Amino acid sequence: MKIAVLSVQGAFIEHEKMLSLSGAQSFEIRQKKDLEQEFDGLILPGGESTVMGKLLKELDLFEILQNKIQEGLPVLGTCAGLILLAQKLSNDEHVYFGTLPVTVRRNAYGRQLGSFYAEGEVAKVGKIPMAFIRAPLVESVGAGTEVIARVDENIVGVKYRNQIGVSFHPEVTACTRLHEYFLEICRHSGGI
Ligand code: GLN
Repeated sequence: MKIAVLSVQGAFIEHEKMLSLSGAQSFEIRQKKDLEQEFDGLILPGGESTVMGKLLKELDLFEILQNKIQEGLPVLGTCAGLILLAQKLSNDEHVYFGTLPVTVRRNAYGRQLGSFYAEGEVAKVGKIPMAFIRAPLVESVGAGTEVIARVDENIVGVKYRNQIGVSFHPEVTACTRLHEYFLEICRHSGGI
C-alpha cells in the first residue's frame, strides 16, 4: 500500500508517521514529477487551505490530482484538506477540488474556541480522540454523502464514495484508527 501525502504546506509529516505506524508506505507530493509513480491513496493534510490551494495551482498539481480524485482515487482530507475537497465554502468564494458534496464553513469555531480536543465516535472506526485546530465545520451534506462523525451535534466527518473529510486532526493524536480505516478503503478500491 503506497499513499501520497500532499506536502506543499501544513501537517504532512504527522500523517507520514501515522501511515508508517499503520504499516503503509508513503511519499511526499511536492512537485509534478512526484506524481509520475503509482499510488493507492492520497492524504490532504491540515494547514492553510488558501496557501495549499494556491501552491497546488502554481506547481501544476491541481488538475492531475482533481482528475484522480474524480476517477475514484481514495482521499482523506483533514481540516484544511476537507476545505480543499468541499464543493462549497459558505464564508469564502473559493472552491478548490470541489469533489466532495458538502458545504463547509472555515474557521467555524471563532478565534477563542479555535483549538480544542474532543472524543467522538466515527462510523466503522469507533471512538477516537479528535484535535480541532481553527477547524472548519460541515454545515450541510449533499446527496450521497454520509455523515460519519458528529461532536455536539456538529458534523465533523463525512464520506462520499472514496473520499473522507474530517474537520479535526487525527494525525496529532496517538490513535491510528482513522488512518487504518482509510487504508482499508484504499485496499478495497483496487487502484484507479
Ligand atoms: N483554518 C484553516 C483553513 O481555513 C484550517 C486549519 C487547519 O487545517 N488546522 O485553511
